Amino acid sequence: MTLDIKKIGVIGCGQMGKGIAQVCAGAGFDVHLMDVNENAVKKAIPSIEKSLGRLVDKEKISGADKDTAIKRISTGSDMSGFKDCQLVIEAATEDEQVKKVILQELCTVLEDDALIASNTSSISITRLGAKTDRPGKFVGMHFMNPVPRMELVELIRGIATDEDTYRIVRELVEKLGKIPVNAEDFPAFIVNRILLPMINEAVYTLYEGVGSVKAIDSAMKLGTHHPMGPLELADFIGLDTCLAVMHVLHDGLADTKYRPCPLLVKYVEAGWLGRKSGKGFYDYSGDEPVPTR
Ligand code: NAD
Repeated sequence: MTLDIKKIGVIGCGQMGKGIAQVCAGAGFDVHLMDVNENAVKKAIPSIEKSLGRLVDKEKISGADKDTAIKRISTGSDMSGFKDCQLVIEAATEDEQVKKVILQELCTVLEDDALIASNTSSISITRLGAKTDRPGKFVGMHFMNPVPRMELVELIRGIATDEDTYRIVRELVEKLGKIPVNAEDFPAFIVNRILLPMINEAVYTLYEGVGSVKAIDSAMKLGTHHPMGPLELADFIGLDTCLAVMHVLHDGLADTKYRPCPLLVKYVEAGWLGRKSGKGFYDYSGDEPVPTR
């Protein structure tokens, strides 16, 4: 099978959706970016423009490249803009029910040969693919955050994913300037299977009073040369996403070592989701982040 990808759809104008749209437009593809939240749609283009502006300041791209990329992106708040897309990448909230409803609705507008990818951090590609009318044309495409900066894209085949689908998406990842790594369809794949239990353990370390937020982050930065401490990283990922991934690991692998820390649960219940809500393990309302514990 050959498929000439010209226009890529992206579902979700959150931090990942915007990053994926930016990278696809920057690589010369037309992009349609969609979210049910009108406010998120309104903020998307200015936010991508700001991000591209930083690349212009660093002389990584020209001002003209930035303007061309921005012109390639259209936005909307329903599925109609996806009908002429050859590939749609779903990057909405990490919630299986939300994703299943999106996928079923998406299939009603797509051409028969269009492919669908999910940027899920943890949910079974086989299960999500089974909710579509095209499990053979469904694949996991897990970008890293922040998308414009991180080189890796994990590629995950569901049990029904066709070899052609996998090959086309793999070639696309390379056209986007990223490096694909294959991961099998097990809960949270490779990166998050390893990273999220570490973050959860950092929250337990805080919960048990072994160290303060600052002590834990400083210890891991200075002691292991991680560029960000685990709690700082959790705030960056989004605490709701971190908790959702821990639930998928706990439910999917049935091992108590993946039990989400009650403190992580409490932060999410409070709406303290990290950077995106202005408060998590740090408070971001001032000039500098201030630890909340
Ligand atoms: P986010 O909370 O920043 O954004 C999610 C967006 O999805 C929101 O704007 C929300 O309005 C939108 N949305 C919710 N329901 C929708 C619907 N029915 N239709 C269209 N849009 C809808 O989340 P994010 O961090 O961008 O994560 C998005 C996806 O990417 C998740 O699956 C997450 O697991 C995955 N991911 C996240 C990271 C990370 O570090 N945050 C990294 C890799 C992958």
